[in-house]
Amino acid sequence: MLQQITEELKQTNTTLVAVSKTKPVAQILEMYHLGQRVFGENRVQELVEKEGQLPKDIEWHLIGHLQTNKVKYIAPFVAMIHSIDSIKLLREVNKQAKKNERVIPVLLQFKIAEEDTKYGLEMSEVIELLESDEFSTFQNVNICGVMGMATFTSDKEQVREEFRILHHIFTQLKNQHFDTSDDFKEISMGMSGDYQLAIEEGSTMVRIGSLLFGVRY
Ligand SMILES: *Cc1c(COP(=O)(O)O)cnc(C)c1O
Repeated sequence: MLQQITEELKQTNTTLVAVSKTKPVAQILEMYHLGQRVFGENRVQELVEKEGQLPKDIEWHLIGHLQTNKVKYIAPFVAMIHSIDSIKLLREVNKQAKKNERVIPVLLQFKIAEEDTKYGLEMSEVIELLESDEFSTFQNVNICGVMGMATFTSDKEQVREEFRILHHIFTQLKNQHFDTSDDFKEISMGMSGDYQLAIEEGSTMVRIGSLLFGVRY
């Protein structure tokens, strides 16, 4: 399955984040030996434990909601945080990155789904931040793009519309605030059930779990 998806993604230059949450290190290692290097986790404790046990050239992406008091545990090694859902969190990531003398790549998460359960920033607060004096002090975070999760529904047209909204948000931010940044280029959208649709709508990073690792219990 990994090879098949990797082939598919190569044609569109899309990055595969293999979502390994709840899966044992042995299974991750298997996929590592097949060549996969980018893995995604949604819980800090689980991520820290796995990072300690697995090869150091794995790029660990944090994809789930992150509490500010836990940023310090992943700041030394995390390769990208997809789930920046508040300015307060971004501030803390910057602070912890600075302590570790590094720059952490991050994505701004927007709520594109109808469901209330999903986290995300409002465009207005992002614009306010980008235009504020404080923003110039954020030297230890590198904003590389946006992330979103579509509604959990079988209605493909609704999902497509939500992906379009995220693409539109990306374009707006790119044109108005990041036109000089070479790094602001990622649209993280698409999971096992909707990644092909996401790619059609411009995704550059898909986060695929169950399709690769089998269903989670
Ligand atoms: C679990 C998870 C995924 C992967 O979901 P699958 O349906 O198993 O592919 C992607 N993104 C986030 C944020 C997740 O929590």
